[in-house]
Amino acid sequence: MATARTAAAIRSRALELGFVQVGFASPDVLPGRRFCADWLAAGYGAGMAFMARHGDRRADPSRQWPGVRTVICVAATYGAPTSVTAGYGRIAAYAAGPDYHDWLLARLQTLGQFVAAVAGRPVRCHACTDTAPVFERELAVRAGLGWRGRNTCLINRRVGSYTLLGELFTDLELVPDAPTPDGCGCCQRCLDACPTGALVQPYVLDSRRCLAYLTIEHRGALPRPLRPLLGTRVFGCDACQEVCPWNRRTRPGWPGPEPALAASELVDLLELDSAGFRRRYGSTPVARARRRGLRRNAAVALGNTGDRDSVPALVRTLSDDDAQVRGHAAWALGRLGGAAARAALEAASRREADPEAALEVLLALAEAAPA
Ligand code: SF4
Ligand code: SF4
Repeated sequence: MATARTAAAIRSRALELGFVQVGFASPDVLPGRRFCADWLAAGYGAGMAFMARHGDRRADPSRQWPGVRTVICVAATYGAPTSVTAGYGRIAAYAAGPDYHDWLLARLQTLGQFVAAVAGRPVRCHACTDTAPVFERELAVRAGLGWRGRNTCLINRRVGSYTLLGELFTDLELVPDAPTPDGCGCCQRCLDACPTGALVQPYVLDSRRCLAYLTIEHRGALPRPLRPLLGTRVFGCDACQEVCPWNRRTRPGWPGPEPALAASELVDLLELDSAGFRRRYGSTPVARARRRGLRRNAAVALGNTGDRDSVPALVRTLSDDDAQVRGHAAWALGRLGGAAARAALEAASRREADPEAALEVLLALAEAAPA
């Protein structure tokens, strides 16, 4: 067992490196395995089949890193979402900057080198931030970094929930920290604020209805009943965190969001070519949605603005190479309505060859107001 002095030195170095929280957890099997299995069986995992693939490994760090004695858990803040102006799409706050995997892993590796140096003997450390199948949030709760809120995010009394998590799995034994008690009390603002009812009960998220999942991970058409609820979100959703009272005092985080990426002009997004997508989003978390997903989301967001200035761009998109994007542009035109939108949809109905896009065009025509 490492001395209290060694543990204090590791905590202090983690804070020096810019982490706002650090705690130690035992690597014993995590209880989340049962919850995850039930959650997947209920269909709440939507298309995240990979969650089912590694169920046992996620719950048991020793299966991935034999000999692990302690999980050093850290958190870094990324700052609250910023407001956006009309005609701009909203991007989740965590994605409004460079890909966090790179900088967070680099700091974790630096911390790992320090752990090896301070331990006074050879020590193994494996750094991880959403890069291996493991129940990160559960480990963070066990390490005392916060509690799992009713919105399913990790919440800390001091820094709220706009945090990114990382771990060092090490064979150095450290005295574990005590878990933090639940701080949600009788609050349920996040459940009330969720636009789609995706928080089906406290602590339970149905990904099939969650705008964060749908705009980022989902590869097919967005469910029609949920499209109006998307608003102008084009990547992720912060609604259930924005209302959380524990985020009231959240300040800009580290390394800090880049405001230029916090929002993007919707018409630009709709017409973004491959080179433009790579240039603008290639090294950011937004790349995860892929160009097709981002353009699909932008089309829906344009339909939700109610602003017919975007009709010409949407009409051009009815001739796009991508049938899915064409279909969502048709939906947006149906929602915006007007003579120009109707005329374009009628023309598209005569030439559209893709069955799904053709159905979108017909449904949009049925919906489009003539004036
Ligand atoms: S991210 Fe948005 S859609 Fe998903 S649960 Fe939170 S508020 Fe609901
Ligand atoms: S909004 Fe209220 S219930 Fe939801 S996570 Fe925050 S404190 Fe908990």
